[in-house]
Amino acid sequence: MKTKERALFTLDALRKAIPEPETELHYNNEYELLVAVILSAQCTDERVNKVTPALFEAFPSIKALAEASIDEVFPFIKSVSYPNNKSKHLVGMAKMVMKDFEGTIPPSIPQLVKLPGVGRKTAQVVASVAFDIDAIPVDTHVFRVANRIGLVKDADTPLKVEKQLKRILPQNTWSEAHHLLILHGRYRCLARSPKCEGCPLQPACLYYERLQKLPPPLKGLDKKKGKYYCKTSNTYFDQPLIKKDRSGTEQLACPACSSMSVYDTKTGKTTKKIKDYRVN
Ligand code: SF4
Repeated sequence: MKTKERALFTLDALRKAIPEPETELHYNNEYELLVAVILSAQCTDERVNKVTPALFEAFPSIKALAEASIDEVFPFIKSVSYPNNKSKHLVGMAKMVMKDFEGTIPPSIPQLVKLPGVGRKTAQVVASVAFDIDAIPVDTHVFRVANRIGLVKDADTPLKVEKQLKRILPQNTWSEAHHLLILHGRYRCLARSPKCEGCPLQPACLYYERLQKLPPPLKGLDKKKGKYYCKTSNTYFDQPLIKKDRSGTEQLACPACSSMSVYDTKTGKTTKKIKDYRVN
């Protein structure tokens, strides 16, 4: 399957699996959306949704937030990640919106990225969700899922993923694709153990294809002889070597012959791992 075909298959299958591809952050207007997206950096939407009702009650407008002190904001967001920095960013962002944008959240990505706490990804999420601007913000889920499926190639930074996705997806699908990939990553293509069984993307997914090519388990291994067995040298051992394979993934290797044809003697399964683009 060619990459473009893979991308269209993915879009089609995810549209059927996820009928409402929308942000899971709770908000009522552009101000609340911007605050929620800033808070969601390195944090779950679920946690952000727990703190924003009280925060928005205390600071119901960008003006109210601009007049607050960092110390006043902190207690409301102390349970999200990086609360010190985020309190500073929220107040700084609100002050700049009041001073430079007449109290209105700016509607373009170049203007949004000027605000404290607003990087490329945050600006794109706000621009796409609030102002209908075509964008593909790449977060940890989009990064992992796009790489696993094979929608992008050798894309080791969010910017590379964004550029490659923009090349293969029709522009009018960018924002929708962003939400579909995030939700697919959040609920099925999980970082630690993707739920490949029953995944509608199996026919298009390179990760799944590689998974099918792993060698089958070996029967009759003697775990008393060692934790691991090397099929190449026919030896048992406890302390494997760690070697990187061609994809840059660390694999267990045999201390006698360096082969990566290593099996766990308890389960009989290969210890080979497929590059999974997990961000630790
Ligand atoms: S088949 Fe597995 S790795 Fe591929 S997209 Fe589905 S869950 Fe993710």
